[in-house]
Amino acid sequence: MVRAHNFNAGPAALPDQALAQAKDELMNFRHTEMSVMELSHRSQDYEQVHHAAKDLLRELLNVPDTHDILLLQGGASLQFPMIPMNFLTKGQPNYILTGSWSEKALKEAKLLAHPYTGGSTKDEQYRRIPHTSELNWSNTDDYIHITSNNTIYGTQWQDLALDAPAPLIADMSSDILSRPFPVENYQLIYAGAQKNLGPSGVTIVIAERSMYERTPEHTPTLLRYDTHADKDSLYHTPPTFAIYMLYQVLSWVKENGGAEGMAKRNDEKAAVLYDTIDNSGGFYTGHAAADSRSHMNVTFNLPSEELNQTFLAEAKDAGFIGLNGHRSVGGCRASIYNAVPLETCEALRSFMKDFQAKHG
Ligand code: PMP
Repeated sequence: MVRAHNFNAGPAALPDQALAQAKDELMNFRHTEMSVMELSHRSQDYEQVHHAAKDLLRELLNVPDTHDILLLQGGASLQFPMIPMNFLTKGQPNYILTGSWSEKALKEAKLLAHPYTGGSTKDEQYRRIPHTSELNWSNTDDYIHITSNNTIYGTQWQDLALDAPAPLIADMSSDILSRPFPVENYQLIYAGAQKNLGPSGVTIVIAERSMYERTPEHTPTLLRYDTHADKDSLYHTPPTFAIYMLYQVLSWVKENGGAEGMAKRNDEKAAVLYDTIDNSGGFYTGHAAADSRSHMNVTFNLPSEELNQTFLAEAKDAGFIGLNGHRSVGGCRASIYNAVPLETCEALRSFMKDFQAKHG
C-alpha cells in the first residue's frame, strides 16, 4: 500500500504495523465480537490492554519501581497547570526556557505561583539549549522544569542525565522513547502520545511516588496525580482506543530494538537531513546550533522567504506532507519521529537536492 511521506509535527506518522493490527482487530477484538472501542473499560479484555501498555512502557523506558506510570487526558497542555497545582512547596519553581512550549508551561505556573527563569536562550531565537554551567538552579527551587525537545525550534537536550539540585520535571512530548535516558533522574515526565507513541487523546505521565505528599488537600480530585495512581489510571473512563493504539505502537518499538533501536534509527534519519543541509553550500540553513540539533524536528530555511514558499509548494505537490514550519516561526520543518521511515527521509533528501539544482 502507498503511504504518504508524512512529516507532520503531531499528530504524526504511525507505524504501518500498528495500523494494520488495529484494522485486523477492528470488528472483532480478541474474539469479543466487538471493537476494542466498544468494550467496557471495566472489562477484563480492556484491562489486559491497559496493563499491557503500561507494562511495556515500564520495560521500554526502564522505569524504576519508585515511579508510577499514569495514562491521562487533557494533552501535555493540562500538565502545565497540574504540575504547580500538585508540587509547589514555597511557591518558587524554576522554568528553563528553550522554546514556545516551555514559555507556555511557565505562563500557567505564573497563574499559581512565583516561578523564575533559571536559564533561557530566548534572546538567541532559541537556537540552542543552554549548557548546564549557564543554568541558575538551586536546591531551594520547588522543582525545575525543562522541555527535552523543542518541537517548534528544532532543538533538543543532548544529555538527559542531568544532575539537578531539586526535583526535575521534563516535558518530553516530542522525544519520549526516541532514545534511552535515565528516568530515575526525573521526578515527573510527561508527554502527549501523538508524536512518538500513538494517536492523540492519551498523555503519559511518569511520576515519582514521593512527590504526591506535596499535593494540597484543596486540589480537585481529577487534577491530583495520586487519584490516578491509586486507581491505576482507571479512576474514570480512560481514552481506551488511544491506549490500545499506544500498546500497538509500543509493541512495534519493542520489536524494533526498544529505545536503543529507536535512537539508532533516529540518528540515521537525522543525519540524512542534516548532511543535506550542511552540504548545500548555504542554500539550506538549519535554525538550530549544531550542538543542539533535534533528531525529531529538523528546522531549516532557504535563502529567501519566496524560495521557502516555492519549496513548500513544490514539496507538497511532490507528496511531502507537513513540511511547513510552525505558524509562529515560519520556514520549513521536517518532523521525523520514531515511526517515520528512513526511506521517507531519503526521499526528502533527493527532493531537496533536485530543488537546489533547479533553484540554487
Ligand atoms: N509540549 C510540547 C513540547 C509539544 O510539542 C506540544 C504539542 N506540539 C505540547 C507540549 C502540547 O501538547 P498537547 O497538544 O498534547 O497539549
